[in-house]
Amino acid sequence: MTSRQSADRQIVVLGSINMDLVARCCTLPVAGQTLSATDFFEVPGGKGANQAVAAQRAGGNVTMIGGVGDDGFGSRLLHGLRHERIHCDHINVAGRTPSGLAMIVVSDSGENQIVVVPGANAQVGPEDVERCAEVIRAAAILLVQLEIPPATVFHAVDMAHSAGARVILDPAPVPESGMRQDLRGIDLICPNETEAAALTGCPVDSQSGLEQAARQLHDRGAKNVAITLGASGTLLWDGESFVTMDAIPVDAVDSTAAGDAFAGATAVHWLESDSLMEAVRFGNAAGALAASKQGAQPAMGTRADIEQLLQRQA
Ligand code: ADP
Repeated sequence: MTSRQSADRQIVVLGSINMDLVARCCTLPVAGQTLSATDFFEVPGGKGANQAVAAQRAGGNVTMIGGVGDDGFGSRLLHGLRHERIHCDHINVAGRTPSGLAMIVVSDSGENQIVVVPGANAQVGPEDVERCAEVIRAAAILLVQLEIPPATVFHAVDMAHSAGARVILDPAPVPESGMRQDLRGIDLICPNETEAAALTGCPVDSQSGLEQAARQLHDRGAKNVAITLGASGTLLWDGESFVTMDAIPVDAVDSTAAGDAFAGATAVHWLESDSLMEAVRFGNAAGALAASKQGAQPAMGTRADIEQLLQRQA
């Protein structure tokens, strides 16, 4: 397959869309205290939207499925995604519901307090998956995370898998109530170390613990497992051999959304090359780039940025 042909094939991202409202304060407020912020930023986020932007900038042709509220945040979020040339016709605008928000206070010493308002993300249900069945069944890759209800996610996973699409699950955040044990239908699961530990109960502070976690996820049905290890790269297990793909060294300033960059870019390259190892190498470069810049969506590299970093590394 040429990369031109693959570029026409859709990556469908089903997931959360948030606005992050970030106030910088000298200290964090205690209960009942009112503080004046020294700075304020409104930053588009949500794991679903972050991964959609990562995949589109890495050269994918992305359709996003999700929901925003019928408010000013919702319009700005949709505008931002359209500006990235992401197909947004399947994003529901929910009436009388706020858009997903994360209200974040960051202190000068770098501590933070976060309140998440799931808003429209919590209303993305199995009926939305049914409404978008044609798009999901036609997808080359379905990319999902867990910031919308897990029942919705797994309905889409089963639908995409039955239709022959490749399915990638970034299991973040791991729900407090746990996640479905049966991972059949998932072609790649890509937890970070903390998520791998939460999903499996395995201690991941050693190579053998990481391998045990990867084996367990594979035994539960995930065809391939990529545990992301921050600056230590990615451990890949395909059921036959373990490969550690080294991270690409960068001056890291903010690792927010490195995992989102990794997931989006890996999806794009896997579609083009059919080699998961090559795709993970490309994903590692996208993750490193994101870690070298501030923020989430603004830090996602373009295809040219990622290729340049890989060339420099070579
Ligand atoms: P998450 O954001 O989900 O916790 P990670 O921090 O593991 O995910 O990052 C995902 C990938 O991004 C890693 O596997 C690695 O390839 C790359 N990455 C993350 N942090 C760094 C870093 N400091 N230096 C180089 N690469 C990094």
